[in-house]
Amino acid sequence: MKGCLLLVAGLVAAMTSIVHAQAPASVTPENLVKAAKHAAGVDYAGTFLRICVAPDNLDGGAARGAAPPVARNVPERSLWYAKPYKVFDNLYFVGTKIHSSWALTTTAGIILIDTLFDYAIEPEIVDGVKTLGLDPRRIKYVLISHAHGDHDQGAALLQSRYGAKIVMGAADWDSTLQRPASAPGGVPKRDVVVGSEGTRITLGDTSVDVIATPGHTPGTLSYLFPVKDKGRPIVVAYAGGTAFNFPRRAENFATYRDSQRKFAAAAATAGATVVMSNHTEFDRAYDRVRIAQLPRSAAEKHPYETDAATVQRYFDMSADCAEAQRLSMQ
Ligand SMILES: [Zn+2]
Repeated sequence: MKGCLLLVAGLVAAMTSIVHAQAPASVTPENLVKAAKHAAGVDYAGTFLRICVAPDNLDGGAARGAAPPVARNVPERSLWYAKPYKVFDNLYFVGTKIHSSWALTTTAGIILIDTLFDYAIEPEIVDGVKTLGLDPRRIKYVLISHAHGDHDQGAALLQSRYGAKIVMGAADWDSTLQRPASAPGGVPKRDVVVGSEGTRITLGDTSVDVIATPGHTPGTLSYLFPVKDKGRPIVVAYAGGTAFNFPRRAENFATYRDSQRKFAAAAATAGATVVMSNHTEFDRAYDRVRIAQLPRSAAEKHPYETDAATVQRYFDMSADCAEAQRLSMQ
């Protein structure tokens, strides 16, 4: 009887695969963009526009992607300054209106995630942490998602002033160490180097899973870490590099696509229900951190919290957008 059932199941599976074989979904750039649009929905509309509709590297983006982080004129403060906010029980926003920086508190100090442009380090990170009642001298680790100036220019100061350990992908360390000493924010000394196998950073009661997700830069790192919302544990998937501002080559899109799929699988295993980014345009951080200050009923979710399926849709979108670009080049 059991064998009979197995036989029937096998026949059904075979027939199903024949049906599928007769009408294969054609994988074209257009169909992938359609699928990505569907996956993005209203949750990731901004990111979809940026990487599927108008990728940065369509026209001359290779040159922009290769550009070193050069000195910038400091923009007028009202355009970027954001107040610091407590967002989860153990996670504090110390970013600007445009770029995110987060302080993850543990029983043994602070893990700081991304560090902004040099002009924002003192007012946002150092002063912001103090305003929130935390002590910047307790910053033990600084995780750099990738070596572009908008995320890494605070690393040298936090390392030299507070003795924080700087964590960066191997390839991004190499490019960082080639900068002149006069680079904005200075140059950190080589510290914790993360290879393609990733690592786990543990401080006190909290661990961050660091996953190598090359693509945006060769050493881009993404993170999975726990936060608490009024005591309830939630897992965050932090995407370390989003835009296609790398040289426009098929293999770069393949690398990006594979990293998205790899991180999607890790996020699913960890049960992540939040997607965060290091640019506020991609995760609406500046809106969400302020909405998080409002009173909530017991039935209302945290403004950052979605569900596992919505988190997966982010990665379906980002992988499909990259694959659409790769295929369009063939
Ligand atoms: Zn970047």
